Amino acid sequence: AGRLEGKVAVVTGAGSGIGTGIAEEFVKEGARVVAVDISGQQEEVAKRLGSDCYAVHADVSRGADVRSMLDAAVSHFGKLDVLCNNAGIDGAVAHTGEYPEEEFDRVFGVNGRGVFLGMRYAIPKLLENGGGTIVNTASMAAMVAFPGMPAYCAAKGAVAMLTKTAAAEYASRNIRVNAICPGPIRTQITDSLPPELIEGVVRATPLGRYGTPTEVGRLAVFLASDESSFITGDTILIDGGYTTL
Ligand code: NAD
Repeated sequence: AGRLEGKVAVVTGAGSGIGTGIAEEFVKEGARVVAVDISGQQEEVAKRLGSDCYAVHADVSRGADVRSMLDAAVSHFGKLDVLCNNAGIDGAVAHTGEYPEEEFDRVFGVNGRGVFLGMRYAIPKLLENGGGTIVNTASMAAMVAFPGMPAYCAAKGAVAMLTKTAAAEYASRNIRVNAICPGPIRTQITDSLPPELIEGVVRATPLGRYGTPTEVGRLAVFLASDESSFITGDTILIDGGYTTL
């Protein structure tokens, strides 16, 4: 049997990159997945994955959208066991002293507040279901600075602490909460960054290459499943060794 047999998961940002990798690995392990995105690309992913995957359009920075994406898990698949708050954007590249105010709010709204909203509205449903797991996609940018990305780094740092806080609050009620901290994974985001920024990161990565969405998806399976039953509040790096140097 699959490692997520019988589980129902909501995965945000599932229309591309890491989110698609998570959705694919989850379905492979027996889960039923609500694939959420704002781009429309989640429809293609759901079509490809078949009846175990259901596409929902939602903007994770809007509370009403987050509530309806979580309701969709219950109405379509009967319950909610797992939430992966994975949707994220990179935003403008500028140093802190020049960073546009509105852009800070936009990036933080999706990458930071969006993760709060997901947990805010998923936790009551997980409690109704007797517990569950939450896997947030943070970044190695929660641990080390990336000059030119102050909003992104701040939001990912916030995700790490939102993860630890909720883990402490709900451990006694059978909800585990962990964060994945990827290094360079080849996706739309890395392809949209200034080449000198991202190529420098890949060059400085001891394993000497990009990671893949599938590799991150496998870590998400582990954290979502009972295999990780004594792990909560952790921020787990999957960075090819970047932060060791
Ligand atoms: P991606 O652009 O390929 O995928 C992100 C998806 O999120 C896109 O499909 C996008 O449409 C969706 N999205 C954006 N804003 C949204 C919103 N408001 N509501 C719903 N969906 C929204 O990028 P990715 O690299 O797969 O990014 C996934 C996550 O991984 C992000 O949180 C990102 O910060 C994080 N991450 C990526 C890397 C990397 O190197 N690629 C490294 C560390 C962390």
